[in-house]
Amino acid sequence: MTDKTGTVYLIGAGPGDPGLLTIKAKECIETADVVVYDYLASPFLLNYARSDAQIIYVGKKGGDHTLSQDKINLLLVDKAKQGFDVARLKGGDPFVFGRGGEEAQMLLSHGVSYEVIPGVTSAIAAPAYAGIPITHRDHTSFVSFITGHEDPTKKDTSMQWDVFAKSNATLVFLMGVKNLENIVKNLIKHGKPSDTPIALVRWGTTARQETVTGTLETIVERVKQAKLKSPAIIVIGHVVSLREELAWFDKKPLFGQRIVITRARAQASDLLSKLSKLGAQCIEIPTIQIVSPEDTAPLKKSIKNIKDYDWLVFTSVNGVKFFFDTLFDMGRDVRVLGHLKFACIGPVTKERLKNYGIISDILPKTYRAESVIEAFSTVEIKDKKVLLPRAKQARTILPEELTKMGAKVDDVTAYETRLNADGKENLISLLENNEIDAITFTSSSTVSNFMSLLESKDAKKLLKNVVTASIGPITSDTARSLDIEPDIEAKEYTIQGLVNSLLAYYEGK
Ligand code: SAH
Repeated sequence: MTDKTGTVYLIGAGPGDPGLLTIKAKECIETADVVVYDYLASPFLLNYARSDAQIIYVGKKGGDHTLSQDKINLLLVDKAKQGFDVARLKGGDPFVFGRGGEEAQMLLSHGVSYEVIPGVTSAIAAPAYAGIPITHRDHTSFVSFITGHEDPTKKDTSMQWDVFAKSNATLVFLMGVKNLENIVKNLIKHGKPSDTPIALVRWGTTARQETVTGTLETIVERVKQAKLKSPAIIVIGHVVSLREELAWFDKKPLFGQRIVITRARAQASDLLSKLSKLGAQCIEIPTIQIVSPEDTAPLKKSIKNIKDYDWLVFTSVNGVKFFFDTLFDMGRDVRVLGHLKFACIGPVTKERLKNYGIISDILPKTYRAESVIEAFSTVEIKDKKVLLPRAKQARTILPEELTKMGAKVDDVTAYETRLNADGKENLISLLENNEIDAITFTSSSTVSNFMSLLESKDAKKLLKNVVTASIGPITSDTARSLDIEPDIEAKEYTIQGLVNSLLAYYEGK
């Protein structure tokens, strides 16, 4: 317990697309001691939290509450009184049917200070991502946000069905899927034309977005056929007809594809953002952890003797990162590298090196050890001393070939990759329920680790309807050795190359 009472931030986490979080909300998550979230807030946002922050899931899905609202309230008060700053993430906007008002009142009554950070509400964003502008000068002059949750048998209802039915407003119902039939019946009963356009948008702004359209007359049947469930926004009014012309999000080339990313979490962001931009739903199941080597002495020794080397060769972004981390930890900086020549195995590694103020002298045409060797054939390497800081289990071809060319190579371990089995159960259950469309393999170890997560399961059977995509021939060979024939192999052995090949595959379908 400290004397200080923490502040609770009631944060609108937006409707699902992580990019729709506000900058203020992001800053608040980054500094919070405790992050409390529920099922409508994208779990992706938790990546912004401090690594030592307490992360608490409070659930809430339809009636199936993980923690009751009272318990959530108590939790917020409790954490604040312990002196913690609490980021309370709520789906959409906290004050739009989010019970944020009640949470604020309760905090006030306990003397806990709070702030509200508004968010992009699903009431606007889900229609927008379905190509439905909720206002449009040609169609409507006002909008109503209505709870669809009210018990239809309630006597003293506050639902003004006659007003809703007679106005030309766009009606946006939240929490209304279960009540759809009642909503539609009431509107028609009070005089709304039965050919009024209506749409339901489920999981709007995410790659899982699903839209069903119809008229008041047809929608109940259509929703039944599509088996569309909560959470969805119901939009009613003439603006819905604009979707035919304005739909954009669900037209993206990878829209709706559920793609697994097996790379280490720290490295996944590039692939994740590229695939997400194309409309895919990315599922991160990191099969690899990248850690400092058990024994850091060899790398430290090389750095200590760095003046003896002529070349520094990096085969991966991790090699660059761990090399410089160690250099800085030893109290040195890039000035000790001034006499060296540099080679990088790929453009991303080269970019990372450039972040440290160093431009690579050699960049091979393609991104495999073999091409580095080819690139070296144009420079005088005989009798030169080469430092190769890289992964512990790396392939031996590069040091062997450089040695054959007369170089003196020090192959030192800069980092180790380990199996990450955290996502194992999730992976197996997703595969068993056919909830994965494609899996990306970005290195040999992602394939072998992936296979070891499946353990005794029948991998062939689990992967039967899954598209497997490999970043290049070496990764593909590893896959084949484990009895997986990749459906896709990147032409250029980079993340962008992998994305391009996935795109070509789906466009060809
Ligand atoms: N405060 C939230 C709403 C909470 S009420 C907001 O501002 O968005 C919960 C309801 O919000 C759900 O029943 C559903 O109607 C709607 N909802 C939330 N996220 C949604 C999404 N991504 N797509 C469609 N509807 C969503």
